[in-house]
Amino acid sequence: MDYVIGLDGGGTKTEALAIDLSGAELGTWTGGPGNPHAVTFATASAELGRLLTTVKDALPGRRCLAVCAGLAGVDTAEERSTMERYLTQTLTGSAYEGVSLLIKNDAEIALKAALGSSQGIIAIAGTGSIIYAFDSEGNKYRAGGWGHLLGDQGSGYDIGLSVLQTVMKSYDGVLPATILTEAVLQKHGIRDASELRGIVYQPGVQKAQIAEHAEFAVRAAAAGDKLARQIIVRSAEDLADLVVALRNRHPELDRLKIGAAGSIFAYCPLFYDTFRVSVSQEDDLSDVVLSGRRSSAGAADYARELAASQGAK
Ligand code: BGC
Repeated sequence: MDYVIGLDGGGTKTEALAIDLSGAELGTWTGGPGNPHAVTFATASAELGRLLTTVKDALPGRRCLAVCAGLAGVDTAEERSTMERYLTQTLTGSAYEGVSLLIKNDAEIALKAALGSSQGIIAIAGTGSIIYAFDSEGNKYRAGGWGHLLGDQGSGYDIGLSVLQTVMKSYDGVLPATILTEAVLQKHGIRDASELRGIVYQPGVQKAQIAEHAEFAVRAAAAGDKLARQIIVRSAEDLADLVVALRNRHPELDRLKIGAAGSIFAYCPLFYDTFRVSVSQEDDLSDVVLSGRRSSAGAADYARELAASQGAK
């Protein structure tokens, strides 16, 4: 039986979803990071190749017709073709040689999953963040998503870094005590916040490791910690500012629906509510649709459409 695969590649991990041509799910698998800027193009494509082999091995006797990969860090036409080149090379000589391949940004597949459409505005807050809009003529508009050093407001990295900085400010007495401190000390098995230096400045610390600290802000905010709430509210407002700026530059985007995807939206109601209120126009509380489907399902939809356009039934 034939199938297609959708890949959702982020800074921390990649999820693969295989579906048959009727759309029924055959399974999901997880592999290493697929964002070429979080690792490298070579490492990301090697990780994707490994994951595709795992899927193939799990579905013996079946034929894969198309793969769509929605990858964080692949935004421009140049990045897209570089990724395509690397991945095609990785798959040469494998069971995937000659299988149709579609490379997209993770925002495109998230939008498809969230709104069931390729039109609308999508906000992602996962390890990284981005705002993307796609209009009915297929034009793309973008704000943010410049990676952890240049932007990524409201991302897990942004929140995780704020957690660490807040712990240090509290240690210095600039900020009051916070339950974030105990959570961070426990995670790293240390007794004093000053020991964090020896951990975060180790060579090779990846952005995903900083982003891991975001969950402490999410939990502490839910428990009522004032500083954690401030971190979440500030980061959600910063992400919302990107939507507001994008709509100010392109008023025609005002009418588009907004979808929200990524772990921060999924696990932090305070973040979602703050974002929703902040992007609202005048008295009209914006309807921000929290994605009910995994982004890999959006990628699998695109792969199925590609297979269908090539005559598969
Ligand atoms: C990447 C974008 C990506 C966003 C959301 C950012 O760090 O640069 O390409 O769309 O994260 O995953």
